[in-house]
Parts: sequence; C-alpha cells; structure tokens
Amino acid sequence: MEKRYDIAVIGSGSAAGFLLSFLKESRAFSKIKILVLEKNTKPFRKIDASGNGRCNFSNSHITKKEYFSFSGSNEWKEKAFEAVSGFDLDGYLSRLGVPSYSDEYGRLFPYTNSAKTISWFLEKGFDPEGVEARLGACVSAASKIKNEGGFSISWRERESDCEHKAAADILVFAAGGAAYPQLGTDGSAFSILKGLGHSVTKIIPGIVPLKTKKSDLHELSGIKAEVCLSFKKTFKRQGEILFTDYGISGPNILYASNYISTALANGEKPELTIDFFPEKNMTDKYFETVHGAGDKKTALDIFGGVLNHRLLKVLLDETFKGRIKSGSKLSATDIAEICERLRSFKIAVESAMSFKEAQVSIGGVDCGGIDPSSFESNIHKNLYIIGEALDYTGGCGGFNIQQAAATARSAFRSIKKRREGF
Ligand SMILES: Cc1cc2nc3c(=O)[nH]c(=O)nc-3n(C[C@H](O)[C@H](O)[C@H](O)COP(=O)(O)OP(=O)(O)OC[C@H]3O[C@@H](n4cnc5c(N)ncnc54)[C@H](O)[C@@H]3O)c2cc1C
Repeated sequence: MEKRYDIAVIGSGSAAGFLLSFLKESRAFSKIKILVLEKNTKPFRKIDASGNGRCNFSNSHITKKEYFSFSGSNEWKEKAFEAVSGFDLDGYLSRLGVPSYSDEYGRLFPYTNSAKTISWFLEKGFDPEGVEARLGACVSAASKIKNEGGFSISWRERESDCEHKAAADILVFAAGGAAYPQLGTDGSAFSILKGLGHSVTKIIPGIVPLKTKKSDLHELSGIKAEVCLSFKKTFKRQGEILFTDYGISGPNILYASNYISTALANGEKPELTIDFFPEKNMTDKYFETVHGAGDKKTALDIFGGVLNHRLLKVLLDETFKGRIKSGSKLSATDIAEICERLRSFKIAVESAMSFKEAQVSIGGVDCGGIDPSSFESNIHKNLYIIGEALDYTGGCGGFNIQQAAATARSAFRSIKKRREGF
C-alpha cells in the first residue's frame, strides 16, 4: 500500500518554496501531510544563484509586456497577469521579517543584499510537523488513481538508487523549466505532465547572451559600454552591454534577450540598434566644440573621452571600411556622419546562447490546459502547475521569482478553499 499524503509537491525551487511558506502561515493547514520531492540534494539552489547572489525577487513596476507566452490567449494572459501582478510579494516578505530595498530600475532585493536570506526564509516552510522533504528524489512519473482519486507519484532516490511510490490527493508540479540544467532543471520533468495529458509548447532560452555573426567586434571581448539598445518598437533601454568572443552580453542584452529569442523562434532575423552616445549632452554640437575651430583633431581626440579606444577603432572600421579611421583628421561633416552612424549602429543576432547560459526558458505547459486564476489543470482537478513550468515567462528584473511566488499564491488559495470545504 502506497503511503498517502494530502499534498505532494514536485520540485523545491522558488514556486514550491513560496507555496510551503503560504501553507505554513495558514493555520488551516496545521494537520495535513505534505510530501516534497526534490531531485537536488539541496533545496532552492536557483534562489541562491539568483540576481548574482543578491536575489532580485520582484520589481516595483510589474508590466504586462514583461511576460512572454506562446500559447496564452489574450484573455488567458490578462487573467494570469492579474494573478501575477496582484500579489504583493515585497509586502509579504517584509511582514514576515525580510525587508527589501529597490534600486533605480525598480528591482527589489532583500535588505541584506544576499539571496541566502530568501532561501533561509523559504527553508522554514520545511519545519512544520507534517512536511516530509525528500531531497535527491527525482520524480519520473505521476498518474491518476482510478476509483480512489488522487495521484500516484513515482521517484528514484539518489542515495539508495531505489524506486519509490506514494499517493496524494493534490499534486503540485513546481519542477521549473529547461534553463540552467546545472541546477537540476533540464526540461525532462515535462514528461511527467505529458503523461498526464498536458501539451508542452516549444521551449527556447530566455534572459540569455546573444551570438552574433563573426566580425572584428568579437575581438572586443571584455569591453563594456553604456548604450541605448533598441529592437523594433518593442524594446528600448539604456544600460551596459558587454562584448564577448561570441557576441554580446551584459545586463542590457539580458533585458532585450527575451524579445530577440522569441523573434528568432518565429523565424525572424533580428537586428539590434545601438546608440553609443545615449546621454543627452553627447550632441553633435558638443563633439564639434571638442573639435575646436580651425584645429583639426583626429576621431580619437574627439570621441576617445566617450568611448573605449579599441571599441572606437573597431566601430569606425566596421562602419566606414577604412574611409574614416580613429587616427583620421575630421571635418565637421565627418563628425556629424560618425554621430549619426554610431547612434544607430546595427548588430545582427544569429542565435541565442544555449540553455546552459540562460536564466529562464520561454515556453512550457500549454496555457490552454491551465486555469489562469488558480493555475489548476483543466484536465485533472487537484493538479496544479506553478512557476517557470508554465508557458508564461518573465523578462529580466525580478519578474520570474515574482511569477513563481504569485502562481504559488493563487494555487494555495484555491487549495485552501477546496480543503476547507472538505
Ligand atoms: C543564474 C540565474 C539567476 C537568476 N536570477 C533571477 C533573479 O534575480 N530574479 C528572478 O526573478 N529570476 C531569476 N532567475 C530565474 C528564477 O530563478 C526562476 O524563474 C525561478 O526560480 C523559477 O521557479 P520554479 O520554482 O518554477 O523553478 P526552479 O526554481 O527552477 O525550481 C524547480 C526545482 O524542481 C527540481 N526538479 C526538476 N525536475 C525534477 C524532478 N523530475 N523531480 C524532482 N525535482 C525536480 C529542480 O531541481 C529545481 O530545484 C534566475 C535564474 C538563474 C538560472
């Protein structure tokens, strides 16, 4: 006879962590049995790695355009956004003793500036009597139990290398997506949901560096620049980019990458536009003043105080093919032309880097099979799918941990309502 639990949770990442925290805070749940199955030997590994070890857990400006979905109808996305943006994660954490601060981009971080504070907070969800956390337990399948109801879950434990089975009235799938397989999420867990009749959309890397066509720009590896980056009418943002030996990375590229990765998946050949003179005071007039009346200066003299010198050289070579070099003496017309071209420098993107370099995966469980208010399956009552596994992925800036916590919150509320009715 399989041991039976009230709730079984697959995965112990952000979404599962917040679900356990809500369950812990809810007195109605003091007597229930919960089984948590996590493939890693440690929970919350992605939380620990998030935000460069600082955990950018949310954002004070949550907007619809930050969320990407292949399969969600407009109505589905509207409702999911209501659920995701409607949960005050910052307030929740603060009420429970984890205050935060917000940076100039609205990104929210724990006051300690350490992701460990968030994982420490979430680990408390394992404390209550009735919670059984099995670490190093990789779930391979789940199925509906005929007659009795509920779900049967099978997993293999790393330490003993033995197969185990248990049953649960409610099953919560919180096993993440396909990004960063180094931390346990390689997309293989989607087969559990496919076995339960759910469809999964195409899955592509998101919040990811970009590979560009081989050119002299690849020689600039390690050089950073403050630029304004834009892509069609969908993305425009000032921030830092980093040149690498394969293409481009850095915070501003990660911000743009979900738009680019989606365009690539749709068969487009995306081109980023870079303004290397983003500050208001970097006008043609300013550079002409530097040039000085009658005193013919080189491109390096005029632009070398604004751009890295190697970067300037390569940009001029790429743009003017030898006609204007960094040592060329310039006329006023040349200055205007350089300004114009370096304000709208185009870089064609060949591909996104792999899931190993991606912070999230875009795509996931088809939204058609999910209720966007509770994140319960439309196929099986009492099956909930929360977090990055959903085909509803956020951009860079704290939108994904917010999504994981908020979808867990919606599932929790639905479970609580049902449970109290038992
Ligand atoms: C390097 C990095 C930095 C990031 N920084 C940020 C940030 O600052 N802000 C932000 O909002 N987002 C950030 N993200 C994204 C964010 O961490 C995720 O979107 C979020 O954690 C998703 O939560 P989740 O619970 O759905 O999945 P996860 O947190 O990925 O958890 C899923 C868990 O399920 C387990 N699992 C998978 N398959 C099985 C199985 N078969 N059996 C048992 N267990 C299984 C995995 O081991 C994992 O522990 C970052 C991601 C990475 C990789």
